[in-house]
Amino acid sequence: MNAQSREKALEISHLNQVFNSGRPSEVRAVNDLSFYIYEGETFGLVGESGSGKSTTGKLIAKLQDAVSGEIHFGGKEIGRLKKREDIRAFRKSMQMVFQDPYASLNPRKTVMEIIGGGLEVHGLARNQKEKQAQVYELLNLVGLSPEYATRYPREFSGGQCQRVGIARALAVDPSFIIADEAISALDVSIQAQIVNLLKKLKEERNFTCLFIAHDLSMVKYISDRIGVMNGGRLLEVAPSNDLYNFPLHPYTESLLSAVPMPDPEVERQRKRISYDENFHHYEDDTGVGLYEIAPEHFVYCKKEEVPFLKKKYEKLTLKALAV
Ligand code: ADP
Ligand code: MG
Repeated sequence: MNAQSREKALEISHLNQVFNSGRPSEVRAVNDLSFYIYEGETFGLVGESGSGKSTTGKLIAKLQDAVSGEIHFGGKEIGRLKKREDIRAFRKSMQMVFQDPYASLNPRKTVMEIIGGGLEVHGLARNQKEKQAQVYELLNLVGLSPEYATRYPREFSGGQCQRVGIARALAVDPSFIIADEAISALDVSIQAQIVNLLKKLKEERNFTCLFIAHDLSMVKYISDRIGVMNGGRLLEVAPSNDLYNFPLHPYTESLLSAVPMPDPEVERQRKRISYDENFHHYEDDTGVGLYEIAPEHFVYCKKEEVPFLKKKYEKLTLKALAV
């Protein structure tokens, strides 16, 4: 974590996405969202279903156009990319891994075709032999035997499919990977394997990662910093350890209270903190935003609440020291 440079790989400002605009079913899926991801870091984006995480991922990947706001990546604002070669270069540097390992892989294609497809599209393999060699290398990288190259997705377990999805993403040597609930559909033991694989690959391949999840249980192990999202907004952003040890927003506290504890005795006695959805809906929006309470630790609140939150942070850190 410390070795990472402080250059920003991605910077989002005042991003908005609205669905069914003007109709009674209007949804502000992303609401004035601003955050950044440092070069080389893994940023965990967490929040329950419907909070706007996938929409954020799709906007970053330019699979959707935002209603307003800016996304800066690789020195460019992605909304302004119009030339075909610019968009192609963007698609190569930004890759996604999806939640459903079976649905996201074409069932009629072999693993060779799935992983090799991107190599062909981006002109990274001059011939069949080069493609094969690279696919074998990629399979090896994600811990799959080269014999799997001739098989179809249905022949694999969920975890193996996800390894294929990761190999496909890595094939074009991206600088940024968005993993949207890439482990959510997997058994817990397999989740840990995939998280460890991603960590290893990140060391070897040096990409930046946006890791989206709906709960906090695995995110800690992979993320340098975490953003907690609800109702299209980030309610808290902090370095991973800081967020786990000193959560400041009640929504974060509620998510943390839902993370299962390994000790069954502790687990039984634990109180689940519930969260009132109206908490962060302020009557009057003036002075409401993300404020930095401690270094790199931001909380969505009203300006007047900042001194109180600073006190709260101080108390939590002192308490941790006393233990
Ligand atoms: P998450 O990934 O956190 O579960 P999403 O970004 O998928 O959240 O969805 C955020 C909100 O936007 C939800 O209320 C969802 O129903 C709505 N939404 C997402 N995509 C669309 C769409 N294409 N059309 C209409 N509503 C959408
Ligand atoms: Mg989603």
